[in-house]
Formats: sequence, C-alpha cells, structure tokens
Amino acid sequence: MLYQSTRNKNLTATGPEAILRGIAPDGGLYMIPDFSQISLDWTSLLDLDTIPMAAKILQAILPDFSPEEMEELSKKAYCGKFESEDLTPLAKVGNRYVLELFRGPTSAFKDVALSMLPQLMTASKEKTGMKEEIVILTATSGDTGKAALEGFHDVEGIRIIVFFPNNGVSAVQKAQMVTQSGKNVLVAAINGNFDDAQTGVKKTFAAAADADLKGIELSSANSINIGRLAPQVVYYFKAYADLVREKTIAVGDEVSFVVPTGNFGDILAGYFAKKLGLPVKKLICASNENKVLTDFLEKGLYDRKRPFYKTTSPSMDILVSSNLERLLFMAADGDSDLVGGLMKQLNEQGSYQIPAAMLQKIQSEFGAGFCDDVKTAAYIAKVWKDYGYLMDTHTAVGWAVSEEYVKDATEPVIVLSTASPFKFPHAVLSALGETPAADEFDCLEQLAAVSNLPIPKNLAGLKGAKVLHETVIEKDDLVEFALTQAKKFQ
Ligand SMILES: *Cc1c(COP(=O)(O)O)cnc(C)c1O
Repeated sequence: MLYQSTRNKNLTATGPEAILRGIAPDGGLYMIPDFSQISLDWTSLLDLDTIPMAAKILQAILPDFSPEEMEELSKKAYCGKFESEDLTPLAKVGNRYVLELFRGPTSAFKDVALSMLPQLMTASKEKTGMKEEIVILTATSGDTGKAALEGFHDVEGIRIIVFFPNNGVSAVQKAQMVTQSGKNVLVAAINGNFDDAQTGVKKTFAAAADADLKGIELSSANSINIGRLAPQVVYYFKAYADLVREKTIAVGDEVSFVVPTGNFGDILAGYFAKKLGLPVKKLICASNENKVLTDFLEKGLYDRKRPFYKTTSPSMDILVSSNLERLLFMAADGDSDLVGGLMKQLNEQGSYQIPAAMLQKIQSEFGAGFCDDVKTAAYIAKVWKDYGYLMDTHTAVGWAVSEEYVKDATEPVIVLSTASPFKFPHAVLSALGETPAADEFDCLEQLAAVSNLPIPKNLAGLKGAKVLHETVIEKDDLVEFALTQAKKFQ
C-alpha cells in the first residue's frame, strides 16, 4: 500500500517514507488512499491484551512492517512505560464512560502516540536504508514537547529540539521540559508566543533546502505525521473491547465517542477505527471557546479569521486544525484536487466552504459542540461532587459537550480523557472552589490533599529536579539557532 498526499494523488510514499518525511513535499498530508486496501479482522482482536492488539492494528495500517516486527516495536514502545499494561483504562462515571489516555510517562494523551513514534522512525530508517541523522524540530504549547522529549531521548540516530514560549506554558509544563535528560535533546525557550515558535519551525524547514544540511534530515513529531496518528487508532478498539468484556455491549453494537479536539488528530484516529470496521455511531468533536470546528461541522464554512482566546484548556487553543485536511480528503472520496483547492483558499483567504454533499456526509458521522471556561469549571465541580471523579479541563470540555447528546443516546457514550487533572492543578483547584496556592508546585500537593488522589510520579519529582536547559532565544533568532544546532550533528 502506498500513502498519497491529500493534495496530489501522484505524490506517493511507502509507510516508512511517510513516517520519515512527516509531511508531503507539496505541503499535503500523507493519507491512506482507500480503506478497502486494508484488511483487518477486528473482531478477532477483542480478546487480545492492549499491546498485542496495538501491534495487529498498526501492522494493518503500516503493512510495510511484518507482524513480528510490529510486535517487537509495540513491546519496546509500551512495556513498563504506562501505569498499567492495559495502557488506557476505561472508567464508568455516571451514565457514561471515560477513556483515560493520560496514564503514560508525561500524564498527557500524547504519550500513547509519542511512545510509539520513535520506534517507528528508527525502524523506518533501517527499512529505507536512510543514513542521515534525523533532527526533529518541535514547537509546543506545552504537552507535545514533553511527550516528544520523553519518547525520543537517547534514541540512536535521532536528535530532538523543542521550542516553547517562555511565558506561554505552565510552571509544571516548563519544569517537565527544562529538566529533561538525554544526550540527544535540546530545549530552548523563546521570547514569543506559541505561534511564533510554530512559524519559526516552519521557516526552518523552508530554509533547510538552501542551508547545506548534508547528512541531516529534518522531521516532525506532531500529528501531521501518520506515524503519530496510527497508534491512536488502537485505544478506540481497546475501549470497545472493554465494553464487550464486561458485557455492556455485544460484538457489533454501536458506541459513540466524545473527543476534546484541537488539531483534529485524536478524533480522526477514531474515524480511522470506524473505517477499519469498529461500530461507531457518532464521533462528537468537542471544542473550547476557540470553536472553529463546531462552526465548520454545523455550516461547512471553515473560517480562521476570528479572535483567538486563551482558555483553561490550552492544548485546544488552536484555529488551524491540520488534520481536518485528512477528513476532507476522505469525504471527497480522495479528490486531491478539491482538497488542494480548499487548502489554497485557507492559506490565501483564511477560509473555505465545502460543497453541500460533502458536508452532509460528514454530518452523518460527526457531531460537534463547544464549551466556555465557566461551564468547563462547573462540570469539573459537578462530576466531582456527583460521582467523585476528577477531570482535567480538556476532559471537562468533552464531558460538557456530551451532556446534550447523552440525553437521547441509546448507545454507550465514551468521553476521551486527554490529560491528568494534576497537569492543570491551578485551573482544577479553582473549579473545585479552592484558592490555588501561588506556586504551581504547591498546587499539586494541594490538589492531592483535596482529592485524596496520588500525584502522578513523573510530576511529583519535578520540584527538586535539576534544570538542564536554560537557553532563551529571541523569536527572530529561531531559524538561525535551529540550523546552527542541526549542523553540529553533521
Ligand atoms: C493535544 C491535546 C488535545 C487535542 O488533541 P488533537 O489531537 O490535537 O485534537 C486535547 N487535550 C490535551 C490535553 C492535549 O494535549
């Protein structure tokens, strides 16, 4: 099976090539041309433990890897790295389920994919015979940076440089990154915001062509990379298997998922699961006040020309959702000219409108809703009071959006939980009506005392950890800094 660019069906790549490149040469995203090319007997997976299940699903999506290879890679990625071997536990909370994706090494759902991506990249290098040293450039608003550092530290043949906005991440997130050990990692704060970091990284990719980087290949670890999307398909099957095991549903019954969404990667992985056969009734896209996706799914008009809000669910503060491009490609039955045209309009005019037939098709499978910070806080408090279950702010956005839907649903509804409440202790304490301590590290202990829950180990050790990265650069110096550092690895 060859992957193809969403913007040009003639630009193809094998799975390993797509993983190494991250993005297609025309700026499109690598995509499975047609799901009927993938054969997966999904019902036979339901009895498996999570890690072998992951291997089978990943091998179906990336058939260049043999079943034995994928089994090996999955074990290396996950064994002993999560709080439990089932990786992503399902909790029953009131009349719905919460899929806990945050039990990995950095307490955010990005661990599921970023534990696997380094394994896939290393194996892809071997398969393609690539000799270059890979340098991964990552701009982060907080969660991706740490999860990527944790995944890639000390991986042979790969280096990683992370840029974060100096005043744009929480104290906990900053401490997580600047204390990262590993001989192949570099972390730099920039005097600027997340968009400045992101723009700088994109400019570095463009400048690399003229910058004599012989022996170096730049790559990306965010969810435009198909190797990051594929591992996320697994937990949709895993949640379904749990419900079958506990006899809540029979094989073949439908379920629905509510997904707190930013870049549209997580929810798209759910759609992949559906395309591979999983009986999914609706995928419900939950946004915070930056509700560009809610509006799009209601009207078919994507318009990024709008105010940007800083919310209490910062990992979803985003106005250009990269992975939506892959959904458009699927809804357009692989018409890459149409998708390329829409993306051109987005770049040039800041908006596009999709044809009515395409919108109908998308609406038959996706729902959408949004929730502001006040409501988010109210649901954190309500769910804690009613059920004794503590949610983080992102999960609470999902819960809030599920409220309306659940009233009429006859199928089980699963809300995806994307971060530990201890990752956002300040906002969670405020939601519970407490006065958060001034120091965020004290908030961790305060939240543990209020909730009687343990602080995740990776966060508990942060306060006294040694700072290893003190570099701060001006936003306009990012490109030169990144290229100079990359050349050192030649
Ligand atoms: C990244 C992130 C999201 C959004 O996921 P997408 O795949 O970008 O839609 C939601 N919640 C948390 C905590 C995240 O870190």
